[in-house]
Amino acid sequence: MFDKILIANRGEIALRIERACKELGIKTVAVHSTADADAMHVRLADESVCIGPPAASESYLNIPRLVAACEITGADALHPGYGFLSENARFAEILEEHGVTFIGPTPEHMRLMGDKIRAKETAKELGIPVVPGSGGAVTTNEEAIAIAREIGFPVLVKAAAGGGGRGMKVARTEAELPIALSTARAESKAAFGDDALYLERYLSKPRHIEIQVIGDGKGNAVYLGERDCSLQRRHQKILEETPSPALNEAQRKEIGETVARAMRKLKYRNAGTVEFLYEDGEFFFIEMNTRLQVEHPVTEMVTGIDLVIEQIQIAAGAGLSFTQDEVRFDGHAIECRINAENPTTFRPSPGKISYFHPPGGLGVRVDSGVYAGYTIPAYYDSLIGKLIVHGKNRNECLMRLRRALGEFVIDGIETTIPLFSTLIQQSDIVDGVYDIHWLENYLQKH
Ligand code: ADP
Repeated sequence: MFDKILIANRGEIALRIERACKELGIKTVAVHSTADADAMHVRLADESVCIGPPAASESYLNIPRLVAACEITGADALHPGYGFLSENARFAEILEEHGVTFIGPTPEHMRLMGDKIRAKETAKELGIPVVPGSGGAVTTNEEAIAIAREIGFPVLVKAAAGGGGRGMKVARTEAELPIALSTARAESKAAFGDDALYLERYLSKPRHIEIQVIGDGKGNAVYLGERDCSLQRRHQKILEETPSPALNEAQRKEIGETVARAMRKLKYRNAGTVEFLYEDGEFFFIEMNTRLQVEHPVTEMVTGIDLVIEQIQIAAGAGLSFTQDEVRFDGHAIECRINAENPTTFRPSPGKISYFHPPGGLGVRVDSGVYAGYTIPAYYDSLIGKLIVHGKNRNECLMRLRRALGEFVIDGIETTIPLFSTLIQQSDIVDGVYDIHWLENYLQKH
């Protein structure tokens, strides 16, 4: 087992990883920018290293500084969390060259899935159903028009290097396609330094359903059920739940086994998520994320499996601690992403938290890195915590969520807590009948 793990992240996920390390008796190293000197993940770590100024490019994304931090502290492994360098294959390679274990998949698999065109081709070869589309990159407008006619309008222009909903544009008609292509190309070039684009059929009322997998890299892989992440704003998830209200037992098992089989064939290592759109009883692969996801706690709540502990054990060469048959799905879990934002305009609301009272009680979990007196810096993403609630069934879970949201007090800044309190009163949410466009439609009307 590792002696010391460096956590190359910040905020709630850095703290989440620290907790797993502590339970395994592993020492932790926090890294932080100057803006994060007072962060909770820094305070609770065994050691900490300041790696640079606030800009992420100068700190959390700076590979030489992270490698130096590993060397100075003698860390023998690194957990990247999500975002930042978590899907950077080159970073994983550099660490390995320096004798530091990257807690995650192989660089080859990260590279393969990081290119969404290759990821789709691979998924297809592995027997996973994909969204009908161009199959490869499209270069000219003429080529795109010909392919779009075949797929049928509306089509979605997507960036091969895409992430976080960027580089994605809908074209409803042939006339809209050239503009969609040029804006998606420019956006992708600016965000990812890559302008390869592809086309997909634009599904009109799908749900976003993803399958959590974990493999040992030697051909064993299991699925840990699904997460329904259909409640989205600007292609970004807001609330996630498991099990999906849209699936029955047989459908869950079928898609789960399809994905696990594919991951066994691939010899996938560590945790990953295979994302699908689900419409009219059919699943369509959109991408695979080769890392821990923000919404992983809902899976932990219903399976009782600590995904970060599993990730660390697999990286240390221990293999999976359970078989597919041993995985039990118990009850229902919902997660709300608490952002430091105005709940109506979604304008970021950084600043000092004057009072902080997290909810508690049976079945309530709060993953957060903030505390009373802490000042949220303006440099990073606005996620400040996650409220995760577990219940015997969906109804109990919703009642508990309502109660927990009512107890949650964060003063001094604006948060999205009031938005969730309103959303969970809506009959479509109570009934579980919402697709990926539901929230945008709701927000337009309210
Ligand atoms: P990113 O990597 O940028 O997050 P994804 O491919 O995971 O991009 O898609 C993000 C979201 O965009 C999905 O959850 C869904 O809401 C929407 N989306 C993606 N592909 C399609 C599609 N073909 N039709 C309709 N919506 C889509």
